[in-house]
This record gives sequence, C-alpha cells and structure tokens, in this order.
Amino acid sequence: MTFKELGITEPILKAIEVKGYTHPTPIQEQSIPILLRGKDLLGCAQTGTGKTAAFAIPILHHLYNEQPKRKGPRKIKALIVTPTRELALQIGENFTEYGKFTNIKSTVIFGGVKQGSQTLALRKGTDILVATPGRLLDLMDQGFISLKDIKYSVLDEADQMLDMGFIHDIRKIIAKLPTERQSLFFSATMPPAILSLSRKILGNPEKVTVKPEQATAEKVEQSVYFVSKMGKPKLLLHLLQTEPFDSALIFSRTKHGADKIVRILGKANITAAAIHGNKSQGARQRALGNFKSGHTNVLVATDIAARGIDVDELSHVINYDLPNIPETYVHRIGRTGRAGASGIALSFCNHEEKAYLRDIQKLIKQTIPVVADHPFPDEYEDVIPESPVKPQKPRQQRWSTKPGNDGGSNNNQNRRRSYSQRRQS
Ligand code: AMP
Repeated sequence: MTFKELGITEPILKAIEVKGYTHPTPIQEQSIPILLRGKDLLGCAQTGTGKTAAFAIPILHHLYNEQPKRKGPRKIKALIVTPTRELALQIGENFTEYGKFTNIKSTVIFGGVKQGSQTLALRKGTDILVATPGRLLDLMDQGFISLKDIKYSVLDEADQMLDMGFIHDIRKIIAKLPTERQSLFFSATMPPAILSLSRKILGNPEKVTVKPEQATAEKVEQSVYFVSKMGKPKLLLHLLQTEPFDSALIFSRTKHGADKIVRILGKANITAAAIHGNKSQGARQRALGNFKSGHTNVLVATDIAARGIDVDELSHVINYDLPNIPETYVHRIGRTGRAGASGIALSFCNHEEKAYLRDIQKLIKQTIPVVADHPFPDEYEDVIPESPVKPQKPRQQRWSTKPGNDGGSNNNQNRRRSYSQRRQS
C-alpha cells in the first residue's frame, strides 16, 4: 500500500514524498481511508506509531478539497487538542510540513508563555488550531477563538489528558463544538473512563488499534542493572563515561530526581538538561532544541514531559528509575529504535523496583537480560525476578573504554562514540 493508493490529494502526496515517507505506517494505512470517507474514528495508538500523520493528512486533504474562494479572515475549521506543549508544537510542525504545498494555515497555542504572539496569529486567521486545553479555554473566554466553524476535531492522547486532570476542560471544549463535525479520538490505552468519554464525543466511530508496544520492545536491545539506590548515580556516571552513545534520554520518576541527576552529571562535566513540569516553557524548549540539534547529548526527563519528544537517532534510553506502570516502560524505550534503527535501553533496578520489573517483563513477554558484571551491584542481589517468558539473547559486555569496541552488537557502532571520546575531540 502506498500513500497514492490511499487517494490522498497531490500537493499533500508531494509533501509526504519530500518528508521521505515511502509507505504508510499501520495506523495510517487503517485510519486514512476511514477518515477520507468522513467517518468518526476511535484510535488506540500512541506517539511513535505515526498517528499524527494519520489524522493530519486526511484533515489537510479535506480542507484542501473544500477550500472556498475566501472572503475575509480564515475561520478555524479543524481543532486538535493535545495535553502538552511539546506535543502541540510537534503536531503543529507536522501540519506545516504535510501542508507545505497548500495554502492551509495552522496555528499552535499553549500555556506557560505570554499570549500576545498567539492572539496575533489568531487575529490574522487560521484554518487549523492545535491547542492545549487550558490556553484554548482561556482564549475562548477572552473572545479570541470561536469554535462554531469547526468541521474536524481531534482529541489526542486522551488518557494523558485525564491523568493530567483536564477532564473538565475537555467537557467544556466539547460543549462548544458544533454537532455536525467529524471527530477523532486517540488514546494509548482504553480504560472505562476513556471509553465513556469517547462515547460523548464520537458518533458511530470506526475503531483502529495498533499495538506498537511489543514490536518496539523487541527492536530495542534492553538490559537491566541491579543496583542499590545509592549506587545509581555512580552507575549512571560510569555508563555515560564508558558506554559508546550518541544521545541519551534519561528517565526519572520525579521532577526533583531529574534535577538531581543533572546536578550530579554537571559535577562530572557532563552537560545535561532536565525537562519537566516545573521548568519554564522557554527552558523546556531550549533544552529540547539543544538535544535535538545534538548540542547536548543527555536529556533528563519525567514521563509527562517526555511525551512528544521525538528525536531522530536517539541511541540510548536510560531508565534511572523504573516506572510503576509497565506500559510506561514501553513508551519510554519506544523513544529509541525508531524507524528500523537499533536502539539501546538500559534500566536501573533497585530492590524496591523489582516488582515493577516483574510487571514490565510480563507485559513485554520477555526477560530483560541482566548485566550482573558491573561495579555497583545491588546489595540484595539474591532476590531474583520471576522466571523468564521468552529469554532474549544476553547483551555483550559493552563498557569497554577502547574506542570502537562496543561489543559489536550494534549496527551503529562506527558512528557511536563514548561521551568522553566526543568531549576530547
Ligand atoms: P508520531 O506517532 O506521529 O509521533 O510519529 C512518529 C514518527 O514517525 C515521527 O518522527 C514521524 O515523522 C514518523 N513517521 C510518520 N509517518 C511515517 C511514515 N509513513 N514513514 C516513516 N516515518 C513516519
């Protein structure tokens, strides 16, 4: 199946070609025909599956084909509501890229920054609005936004919206949407609260589910280090100084923990930045920009802040803390090993986290190989996690300090150098 065979209009096809996509991803292959037919969609899919293009392309296609001879300012015809600023910006970028050969305009609004430039853009008029819920309601209340011309609405990352306490905001927004519209609803998980919300939003939707989790987990070379809580900072430094890597995304369970990791790395002359909810929008964007451009190679993030981080060629994900929700582990490691590239996920597991590890292994139906031979072992090593389901090939020793000797198990071995090697060059 090609994009052309899906029946997408020419200027958008051209933009897809420029992007270098040869074939639609499974979520795109399933969703695009449904959306081109004008049906509502309930999509069970997460970031990393190509879901943004799955909704952005059909919306652009419809708007392009319906373009009237315009008199007066553009009216907002498509609304995408998403939980975080990072996701909003990323979705906005996607619309700009796929729509670059059309004259369809999109605008992104989110909180945490002054509203001046956003209201200016809204005054000029936009066809598509990508928004986080709080700022959207705020600007609606101030009269900068009217939703009465909306024909396409997307609720993105619905489960995350609920987790972040946006349910009342979402209800208020939905109440302002015209009933005659095409509605799309995406969520990575579908617990009862999400299904009930989806019923309030969608007419008679078609359902599409893509399960990238297992596939992603299989592509990524995973390993776990049993390490005491006290040993974690030392082990992290040791790995970053010896493990050949291009860029590492480190996950911390708490904002405070993320800041602490950055400080520890700083003391060892490893430049890292943290992104989490307590950082200003400017600081988050700067940190992400520097990481994406390769200026900094280490980014420390909490799970919520990391949603929407889409970095090409992220070589390592390091779980400094294991998540208590097993799906989160899969989301985290899915940030590496994208688009067929090989990725490495290293997890630190202290005694208290062993139950989390068991749940993760059950979910991914794999036993994550243990790297037993490291300098900071957990003092409770005798506690072994539950028996394997499908053993993976054990990882090879990979902390040689010799350049180029990374165990030979990675395709990118010539490209990857240790942090200290790069700092010297
Ligand atoms: P998303 O799930 O929307 O965050 O997309 C994840 C990543 O996949 C982004 O970097 C997209 O640019 C990329 N992507 C989306 N569709 C395709 C495709 N058909 N072929 C290759 N990459 C894609």
